[in-house]
Amino acid sequence: MGAETVRPLPSRLAGCFAAMVVGLVLIAGFAPAASANEKGAAQQLQRLKDEPSKLRNFLRQMPKGTDLHTHLSGSVYAESMIKWGAADGKCVDPVTYVSSFPPCTGDQVPLANALLDTTLFDNIVEAWSMRGFLPGEESGHDHFFATFDLFGGAFSGRTPYGLAEETNRAGRQNVQYTEPLITPQFGHTLQIANQVGYNPDFGELRESLLNAGLLEAIPAASAQATTALTGQQQILDCDGENRQPGCDVEVGFDVQVLRNQQPVVAFAQLLFGFELMKADPNWVGMNMVQPEDASLSITYYRLHMQMIKFLKGFYPEGNVTLHAGELVPGLTPPEDLRFHIRQAVNVAGAQRIGHGADLKWEKNPQGLLDDIVEKKVCLEINLSSNAQILELKGKAHPIRDYVKNGVRVTLSTDDEGVSRTDLTNQYGIAVRQHGYGYRRLKEFAQEGLRCSFLPSSEKQKLLNRQNKLFSQFEAKFKPKVRKPRK
Ligand SMILES: [Zn+2]
Repeated sequence: MGAETVRPLPSRLAGCFAAMVVGLVLIAGFAPAASANEKGAAQQLQRLKDEPSKLRNFLRQMPKGTDLHTHLSGSVYAESMIKWGAADGKCVDPVTYVSSFPPCTGDQVPLANALLDTTLFDNIVEAWSMRGFLPGEESGHDHFFATFDLFGGAFSGRTPYGLAEETNRAGRQNVQYTEPLITPQFGHTLQIANQVGYNPDFGELRESLLNAGLLEAIPAASAQATTALTGQQQILDCDGENRQPGCDVEVGFDVQVLRNQQPVVAFAQLLFGFELMKADPNWVGMNMVQPEDASLSITYYRLHMQMIKFLKGFYPEGNVTLHAGELVPGLTPPEDLRFHIRQAVNVAGAQRIGHGADLKWEKNPQGLLDDIVEKKVCLEINLSSNAQILELKGKAHPIRDYVKNGVRVTLSTDDEGVSRTDLTNQYGIAVRQHGYGYRRLKEFAQEGLRCSFLPSSEKQKLLNRQNKLFSQFEAKFKPKVRKPRK
């Protein structure tokens, strides 16, 4: 199940095969249709790159494969959360904009009030997202991460609706597959972890957690996934007459492990995640989340990498992607910028890295790039999120280093609801800020599916479908052939 072991058609082989086909076709005296159409699409993108609305339309229709880095709650727009929270009788504090369960106490008001009060509605949207945000006393980093604690109460219980929104948006943008990140059964894991207590002997700690009943919540975590998927299908009317685009988007869940926690809690979540992936194919991967610079995240970063390395010995089939290097100077001391990506790749053995933004501040960046290429590690690049949280964009962004060095790169949204963006816009930024053309964008889309944590047979099906979607898309840009004069 490892990303590097299931790549269906190695690019070298594909290149040789393509060269043979081109050679044979040229001998026969005509160019291959797919290649000509791809060229037509590339030319079209060049023509449209300075026309924002036409470029947007082109990129929206382009098959984009997948969004591999999308936190489910962060993918939902604040407007939806207000609507659902209002319907569920939830409350909001009109000063802090923290949402909560009823009954509303103290200064709290019903969230439903926001539907009739424009000022309250606008203030909540701006507190729960990056809409209208200008860095000042509060940084983009702080405002972005604070949103999750504010809208958490309103979103609670609405996972199927969140999944319906996320997949439907993906479907409308010609995305075939997403890997939403969800935290399964944190309350249970926390309770068992606190009951057992930390032991630096990971083998003993694993045994103690298992004996204390850590896995009793596996059925509930499975139900969380099936309930979300079943609900999403109903909400999108997938068996009915009003079938929505999200019905065609396949889903594999990634386990979110909260990293800004005491070591025993982090270890218990990692162990639970590996066991969950083993028990339930709906959970395809695992990731560590929460700000990488937060106190416990940064204090125990090396220890977390050791924990994953240890557990991978027990669960070699478990897929791991890690937020690593979501940092810039100033956010942490320079010493902490020197090893996060390297440890995620070389110690934890992550198959994918999310962000990798602090590449140039790592010790020996070129050596690290060489390791990443050699290990076939994939990079999930989140351009909007990096601009908002890290103020990292344009030429300063390391996407160029990764691409130039032959790293496997795909584009993702991170938190499209919080960022007020979508996957199409990530491709647009790649064109506008980085000058990438059609073939590079197509490579991002194809690499995304190859890097997904789906089992190889399912992945191959999606890759075959993606090829067809590209053929259909590119056929619209068939170069015009002049009729010979009589
Ligand atoms: Zn993320």
